[in-house]
Amino acid sequence: MDGKIVITCACTGAETTKAHNPALPVTVAEVAQAAEECRKAGAAILHLHVRTDEGKPTASPERFKEVIEAVRRKTDIIVEITTGGAVGDTPEERLRPIALIQPEMASLDCGTVNFGDEFIVNTLPTMRAFASEFRKHQVRPTFECFDLGHVYASRILVKEGLVEPPYHYGFVLNVPGAVPYSPAALESFRAAMPEGADFTVMGIGRSSLPAQFAAIAAGGWIRVGFEDNVYYSKGVLAKSNAELVERASRIAKEAGLAPATPDDVRKYLKLRG
Ligand code: ZN
Repeated sequence: MDGKIVITCACTGAETTKAHNPALPVTVAEVAQAAEECRKAGAAILHLHVRTDEGKPTASPERFKEVIEAVRRKTDIIVEITTGGAVGDTPEERLRPIALIQPEMASLDCGTVNFGDEFIVNTLPTMRAFASEFRKHQVRPTFECFDLGHVYASRILVKEGLVEPPYHYGFVLNVPGAVPYSPAALESFRAAMPEGADFTVMGIGRSSLPAQFAAIAAGGWIRVGFEDNVYYSKGVLAKSNAELVERASRIAKEAGLAPATPDDVRKYLKLRG
């Protein structure tokens, strides 16, 4: 995407709470408002987890539908739903929304990983089942990779013809117990992708800002948002997701890149929408 960069906002996540940052969007109305603000600030994609009325993470297709419809009424942002879910969700629960919601994009976790003291399990048979379901409903996957081995595992899906190009990766760096962020780690992930694939870099916690610069330097795309990091700077909470997107847009513009629009991305990634 010449001269442009795709910015994703992961506004809520599964593990962040209002105790971490009171501005976390949780309710349907709060998420829809955050989506609108992030779009205005330069985000093209909203990475979406949803919560119950009590604020607990849920993979309920009904709740996804409700939130996506509220987002749609406010903005044209692309919605990428999670199929990683929350720690402890079964693969069946995580996959159910794909058929029922048929989002334009969704994350597809490419392996098993530590998540702090918890862990996320994705076997190859699970990944194949996910990839087949995505293909059936023409949902563009983001191959979410927390480990270098995950990038290689994704290539098995590609080789088996379960996913069609263009390929889009999400590299998640700095999750406790997984791969710490470094430019060298990012480069090793990037080099392992199939030729011509695009990638979004997600630096968790304090690595968020350096990862944005590294993404630009490496020709990748940026993800920010409260799922990954609730701070604007050391000890200072971000006022909103949009504040983080605004900074990402500013950094990109200084590097000579314009934030891509949702329609740019729809065309480029050949989304069904
Ligand atoms: Zn997520």
